[in-house]
Amino acid sequence: MMGQMMQMPLMISSLLVHAARHNGDVEIVSKRVEGDLHRYTYRDAELRARKLAQALAKLGCEPGDRVGTLAWNGYRHLEIYYGASGSGLVCHTINPRLFPEQITWIVNDAEDQVLCFDLTFLPLVEKLAPHLHSVKHYVLMTDRAHMPAQTALADLKCYDDLVEAENGDYAWPEFDENTASSICYTSGTTGHPKGAVYSHRSTLLHAYASALPDAMDCSAKDVILPVVPMFHVNAWGLPYSGALVGAKLVMPGPHLDGKSLYELFESEKVTFSAGVPTVWLGLLTYVKQNKLKFSTFKRTVIGGSACPPAMIRTLEDDYQVSVIHAWGMTEMSPLGTLSKLKAKHVELPRDAQQHILEKQGKVIYGMDMQITDDDGRVLPWDGKTSGNLVVRGPWVIRQYFKRDDSPLHDGWFPTGDVATIDPDGYMQITDRSKDVIKSGGEWISSIDLENIAMAHPAVHEAAVIACRHPKWDERPLLVVVPKPGQQVARDELLAFYDGKIAKWQVPDDVVFVEEIPHTATGKIQKLKLREQFAQHVLPTC
Ligand code: ADP
Repeated sequence: MMGQMMQMPLMISSLLVHAARHNGDVEIVSKRVEGDLHRYTYRDAELRARKLAQALAKLGCEPGDRVGTLAWNGYRHLEIYYGASGSGLVCHTINPRLFPEQITWIVNDAEDQVLCFDLTFLPLVEKLAPHLHSVKHYVLMTDRAHMPAQTALADLKCYDDLVEAENGDYAWPEFDENTASSICYTSGTTGHPKGAVYSHRSTLLHAYASALPDAMDCSAKDVILPVVPMFHVNAWGLPYSGALVGAKLVMPGPHLDGKSLYELFESEKVTFSAGVPTVWLGLLTYVKQNKLKFSTFKRTVIGGSACPPAMIRTLEDDYQVSVIHAWGMTEMSPLGTLSKLKAKHVELPRDAQQHILEKQGKVIYGMDMQITDDDGRVLPWDGKTSGNLVVRGPWVIRQYFKRDDSPLHDGWFPTGDVATIDPDGYMQITDRSKDVIKSGGEWISSIDLENIAMAHPAVHEAAVIACRHPKWDERPLLVVVPKPGQQVARDELLAFYDGKIAKWQVPDDVVFVEEIPHTATGKIQKLKLREQFAQHVLPTC
C-alpha cells in the first residue's frame, strides 16, 4: 500500500515564497559595495527574484544553464540565489579570492552563460573576459548611477536595469526536486578544483536539518549575520535556512574588518553569526583593543577549520557568546556535525562541558558517519581510536561535476579527514590526512599542537607543519604570529607544552613570522608553509 500524501517537490523558490508570505515585513539589510546600507524585506526580495527570473529568461537562459556570481554577501546576490535556482537555472557562486587562472578554469568548466559580479570585481572580470569561453552576458550588480562610463566589456549589463524592466508577473515553476540548483567548486589545493552540484532536494533537506535546535538553532527571533561568504559553500546554507525560519538577515558586503563587523552587529542587533576562525581573530582583536562588549550577539557557528579552544573560551567567558563548533565540507553542502550538549551533560562541571563542546560534534539527522582503517574496516567509537572519516547522506555528493569516476567507497564518501568518535557520537577531527605529522610510525595531530599554542597569551595565530627529520621521518615545526606589540621566546613557547601533551609530541622548533598564508576560504595554507620551510633544519637533526 502506498502513502496518500500530496506529492510536492522540494523547491528552493518555496523558501522565499514562504518567507515573503509569512514573514514578509522581516528585513534584509545589506552593506553595499557602493558604500551605503540598503534595507528591504523578504516581500521585496521575492518580487525582485521573480523579476530577475524573467530577466534571465529574456537573456536566453534555459533550464540547467549556469549563472555565475563573483559577489559579496548582499541582497542582489540573494536574489540571484533564488531567481536563478528558482527558475530552473543553476547558481554558480565563484570565490573571487582564488587565483585568476583558477577562476577562469572554473567558469569554463562550469560553462557559465551569464556572469554577475559586484563593482569590486569589474577590473578582474575585464581582465579575465577574453579567456571565458562560455559567458554570453556580463551583468554588473549595481544601479544605473554606478555603471562605469567606459569598460573593456562589450555590452555590459546593469543588474538593476534588468530587474526593474520586468513586471514580476511570473509563477515559480515546479519541477523534479532532484534538478541541479547550484554548484560550488572545492578550492583544489592539489589538482584542478572539482564541482559539487547540489539539488533543490538536497538544499532543502540541508536547510531543515541545519536550522534544528541541536544544529544552528535558527528561529524567527534571530538576526543572522553570515560572515561566511555566500561564495563559500553557499554561506553554509544560511540564505536558505534564514528564509526557512524567517530570520532577519544582515549582509556585511565587502566590509569584513573587525570595526565594520562590530558596528553592524551592534546597529542591526545581530543575535547569531557564522564564520571561519580567522574572521573571529580579527573581530576579537578589535573588540579587545577597544574594550567593547556585544549587546545582542549571543551565539556563533565556527567551522571550516578547527576552532582553537582558547577562542571558544574567550568568546564565552569574556563576551558571553556561545560557540557552536561545526564541521563540514563543500561536498557535504556543507554541514555534517555540530557540537551541542545532551541532557546528560547539563549537570557536568563547566570544564567537562567545555571539553565536549571543543569537539567537532554530533551528526545532524540525515548525515551518517563512520571511521575506518586503511583497509576499510569499521573502527570503534571509543573516543581514542582514530581513523579515516567517511560520510553518507542526502546532502553528500555521489559524484563530481563532469567526472565519471565515483569518489565513493562502498557507498561512503571519504572526507580525507582523520577523526575519533566517542561512545556518545561526538566526532573530533585529529587532522586532515595530508597534514598529520608522521613521526617514527606514530601520528601527531597538528590541530592539537596548534590549539595549545593558541592558548598562549602572546600568540595571535599558530600553525604546525611536518618538517623532514633524518631519524623520525617527520617532526612538528611550530610557526607563530605573535600578538601585536608582544614578544615571546622560542623556549618559553616549547615549555608551554609541558604537561599538556606527551613529550615526544612537543614541536622540535619554533619559527616566528609576520603572517601565516591563508587559502581563499580563510584556512591556513599548510602546503605553502611546508614549501616555505622545506629547507628548515631542526635543532634535533
Ligand atoms: P575549502 O578548502 O574549499 O574551503 P571545504 O570547506 O570543503 O573546502 O573544506 C573542508 C575541510 O575543512 C574538511 O574536510 C576539514 O578538513 C576542514 N574542516 C572544516 N571544518 C572543520 C573543523 N571544525 N575542524 C577541523 N577541520 C575542519
